[in-house]
Amino acid sequence: MVNQGTTIYPVSSVAEVLSILRNVQGVTIVAGGTELARRQTGRTLRLPSLVLPLARVPELSTVTKTERYIEFGPSVTLDAILQLGPKNLPEALHDAVRSVANPGIRALGTIGGNIAAKGHRLTTFAPLLALDARL
Ligand SMILES: Cc1cc2nc3c(=O)[nH]c(=O)nc-3n(C[C@H](O)[C@H](O)[C@H](O)COP(=O)(O)OP(=O)(O)OC[C@H]3O[C@@H](n4cnc5c(N)ncnc54)[C@H](O)[C@@H]3O)c2cc1C
Repeated sequence: MVNQGTTIYPVSSVAEVLSILRNVQGVTIVAGGTELARRQTGRTLRLPSLVLPLARVPELSTVTKTERYIEFGPSVTLDAILQLGPKNLPEALHDAVRSVANPGIRALGTIGGNIAAKGHRLTTFAPLLALDARL
């Protein structure tokens, strides 16, 4: 449920995302929303007052795999990463992603949200660091 006083910026391209980030102070990016939801203590979901949802920006949900590296867009869900299969992922990353929450949460939660969560480092951060990933 959207609380009163929330403004949502309906973007569909990276150019629009960048424009909002440049021009709107204090806007909160929301990808899967699962970490934001986990931090809530009330009975109803309270969104930040200015919300920039990434769910409808297809350019941010791509996976590119070459012989030397895999590049994940920030909105790639944890489930989509697991779908690549253990043979196509570093073992440490696969095991870390598989250990996050449950399939329902992994279907919504993204790698970008996992990395960018405020306050503390979440499950994928250490393996990505160990793998010398560029974030
Ligand atoms: C029941 C439950 C259990 C969980 N268990 C685990 C667990 O075991 N391990 C774990 O790591 N996590 C866990 N989580 C947290 C969460 O599900 C994951 O960390 C998930 O990957 C967060 O992704 P998201 O897209 O939902 O993030 P969101 O909630 O959308 O965003 C999280 C933060 O990152 C910022 N953000 C998101 N995307 C971007 C971006 N592209 N650029 C800049 N900032 C961005 C947001 O502004 C916000 O501050 C759990 C959550 C729940 C509800």
